[in-house]
Amino acid sequence: MDTRTEPMVSFDGAASRRMLARLRDVMAGSGSGQERLDKIVTLIRAEMRADVCSCYVMRAGEVLELFATEGLNKTAVHNTRLRVGEGIVGDIAAHARAIALDNAPSHPSFAYRPETGEDPFLSLAGVPILRGGKVRGVLVIQHKERHRYTEEVVEVLQTIAMVVAELVAAGELVNPQEVAATGDPVLLPTRLSGAALNPGLAMGLAVIHRPQLTIRQMVAEDAGTELERLNQALASMHDAIDKLLAATALAGLGEPRDILETYRMFAEDRGWLSRIREAIRKGLTAEGAVQQVQDDTRARMSHMTDPYIREKLLDFEDLTNRLLQHLSGRGQDGAGALPEDTILVARSMGPAELLDYDRHRLRAVILEDGSPSSHVSIVARALNIPVVQATEALSRIEPLDPLIVDGDHGAVYVRPAEDIQMTFSESVALRAMKEQVYAETRGLPSVTRDGVPISIVLNCGLLFDLAHLHASGSEGIGLYRTEIPFMVRSSYPDVQAQTELYARILDEAADKPVVFRTLDVGGDKVLPYISAGAEEENPALGWRAIRIGLDHPSLLRQQLRALLRAAAGRPLSVMFPMIAEVAELDAARRLLELELTRLRAHGVEEPSRLRVGVMLEVPSLLWQLPALLPRVDFVSVGSNDLGQYIFASDRGNPRTAHRYDPLSPAMLTLLKRLVEACGEARVPLSICGEMAGKPLDAMALIGLGFRTLSMSPPSVGPVKTMLRSLDVAALRQYMDGLYQRGDHSVRIKLRAFAQDHGVVI
Ligand code: PEP
Ligand code: MG
Repeated sequence: MDTRTEPMVSFDGAASRRMLARLRDVMAGSGSGQERLDKIVTLIRAEMRADVCSCYVMRAGEVLELFATEGLNKTAVHNTRLRVGEGIVGDIAAHARAIALDNAPSHPSFAYRPETGEDPFLSLAGVPILRGGKVRGVLVIQHKERHRYTEEVVEVLQTIAMVVAELVAAGELVNPQEVAATGDPVLLPTRLSGAALNPGLAMGLAVIHRPQLTIRQMVAEDAGTELERLNQALASMHDAIDKLLAATALAGLGEPRDILETYRMFAEDRGWLSRIREAIRKGLTAEGAVQQVQDDTRARMSHMTDPYIREKLLDFEDLTNRLLQHLSGRGQDGAGALPEDTILVARSMGPAELLDYDRHRLRAVILEDGSPSSHVSIVARALNIPVVQATEALSRIEPLDPLIVDGDHGAVYVRPAEDIQMTFSESVALRAMKEQVYAETRGLPSVTRDGVPISIVLNCGLLFDLAHLHASGSEGIGLYRTEIPFMVRSSYPDVQAQTELYARILDEAADKPVVFRTLDVGGDKVLPYISAGAEEENPALGWRAIRIGLDHPSLLRQQLRALLRAAAGRPLSVMFPMIAEVAELDAARRLLELELTRLRAHGVEEPSRLRVGVMLEVPSLLWQLPALLPRVDFVSVGSNDLGQYIFASDRGNPRTAHRYDPLSPAMLTLLKRLVEACGEARVPLSICGEMAGKPLDAMALIGLGFRTLSMSPPSVGPVKTMLRSLDVAALRQYMDGLYQRGDHSVRIKLRAFAQDHGVVI
C-alpha cells in the first residue's frame, strides 16, 4: 500500500511557456557559455521551485562533469565527475532516458559524492541532454523532501534540455574536438524508417541543408536603403536562377526544367514582392520584411492539407531562404565544399536548392517533409538519386555522420555499425556488377535460348525517361503515363502545351513506337488543379481514369486533339485506361472520331497510322472479349490494377498489397485464356504492370505466351538476361501442370524450374 503523503511537483502550461521565454532571453543574451549556463540553472531552480538544479556536460572519455549548479556546493563545479553508468546521473546518460525518483538514495545506482553536499536531498528528476542521437550531458533537479514528479515536469525538463543542447553543441562549453577526438562512445547507431520516395542505395556522409539564416537586425533606419538592397538581392537571385536554368546539367531534363520555370515565375510573383516592399515601408529591414511575409504565409497556409498548396508553400520557403542568402551576400551558399559522397539531410527543399549542390557528389537525399510527387523528388528521380522521407532526421543526424540510405525500403542507417556497412557495401558492389552484366546484354538480341523473340518496351512518364529508350536497347514505349507531366505542373496544360510535349516525346523516340495512355488520374493520382469533389470512400473503385474522361469529354478531347496534332504524319497509338465495358471504349472512340473530323476540317496533317487499344485492368472486360477484340488494334494488361480487382485487394494498402500473388493459379489461368483469345483474334497483346519487370514473373508471362513486356527502364537488363537463358518450350510444358493446382502461389515451383534449368533470375 502506498502511504506516501508527499506533495506532487507539477507545472502548468503557462508556467512552462513563461520559463521558456525567459530561457530564450538568457540564450540570446550576452555572456560566455558558462555564464549563460549558470543563469539557466538559477532560472530553472527558481521557476520549478526546486532546491537544486545542476547541469552535467559530457567530456572526452565518457565523463560527465558538473558544469553548473544552484543548490549544491559551488566548489564541486568542474571537480565532480561521473563516468557514464556511474550513479543516477551516469545511469541517465548511459541509457539516454529520463529518471524521476522520490527516494534517490534508495536507488541501486545512487553514488554518494560528499563534495557536492548532496546528502540532504531525497528526490531527483533528471533528463539526458541529447543532440543528434548523442548524449551531451544531463540536467537534474532535486528536492530536499520526498516528492513525486509528474510527467509534465519531466517533459518540461526535456524541453529545457533541448535548449541547453544548443549551448553545448555550439562548442562554447567544451571544445567539440575534445569529444569528437575520442570517438564518443555514446554515439549510437540508429535506424530511421520512413517512406521511399525514390529508389536506390547510397552510402555517404551527412551534409545538413540549413537554409535558415539568423536575422540580426529587424528594424531599419532608412526604408529607401532597404528597398534598394531588396532590389539588388532580387536581381542577383534572378540571375542565379537563370544560370541554373541554363546550366548544361539541366539540358534535356524535361519536366524538372518546367518546374524550375514555374519556380522562376514564383520569384516574380507580384503579390509576394509587394507584401515584402510594404513591410519595408512600415520600418523593417529587407531581411526582416522577407521573413515576416514568409511567417504570415506559413501561418495562413500551414493548416491546409491540399498537396498543391503545400507544394507552393515549400516553393515559397525555398525562395525566402534563397532571397535571404542573397541579401546576406552569400548567393550560392548551398554549393560549398562537399564531401565526395554527400547525403543531403533537409527539413524540406525546393528543386532549385537541390540543384545548387554539385550533382556529381550527391548520392542521396533525406527529407523530413516530402512526398513522391513533391517537386524535389521528381528532380531527384531525373538525376537518379535515391530519396527517403524520414521524420526526426534532423534531430538524429549530425553533420558528417556516416549514413546509408536505402531508397528501396525507405530506411536510413545513421552511423551504421561495421557489419551493416559491410552488407551495404556488398549490395552496392553487387548492384554495380550486375549493372555491368546487364549493360553487356544491351546490344544483344532479345531472343530466348530456343529462339523465341520477345519484345521489350518501356513504361515512361517523364521526358527524361526517354534517355533510357535508346540507352537500354528497348524497342519502344509500351506505356507512356501521360498523367505524370500533368501531376508535376501547377496548372492544367492547354492543348498547345500538350501538343508540344507529345511532339517532343515522338521526336525523341525517333522511329521507335510510343503508346500514349490517356489521362489516368483519380485514385491515388491527384491533380492539384482538378478537384475530385467529395473524398471517396473507395478511390480505387471510384471516379478515375476513363470515367473522368467520359464525364468531362472536353478534357479527354483536348488531350486527343493534342496527340493527333503532335503525331502529324507519324504513327500514333492511343490507349484507354480502366475500360470496364465495351460501351466505354465505343464512347471514347467516338470522341477520337470527333477530333479526327475536326483535324481534317482544319486541314491539319493526320497521323500516318492510328492504332487504338485498351488496358485490360477491370475484370468485367474479360467476359466481353468477343465483342472487344474486333474493335481494338491492341490490348495491354495492367496487371497492377487487374490484380487488385481480381483479388479484391487494395494495391496501395500495405496489409493487403502482397496478400495475393500474381503467380497464383487463378491469375495465371486468367492470363492464359486472354493470351489464347487474343491469339485467335490476332490482336497484339502486351503487359505493362509491375510483374512484367520482375525476372521470375516475366519468365512465367513468357511461358503463358506473352511476347511483349513493358517495364520501367531499370528492369530491362535483368529481364533480358533472364529471357536469353530461357528455354520457352520446356517452360510451357512445365507450366501446363500448374494451372489446375490448389496452391496459394506457384512462385516456389517456378523458381525451382528456373534453378533446375539454368534460368538467370
Ligand atoms: C497497371 O495498372 O498495371 C498499370 C500499368 O497502370 P498504373 O500502374 O499506372 O495504374
Ligand atoms: Mg492501372
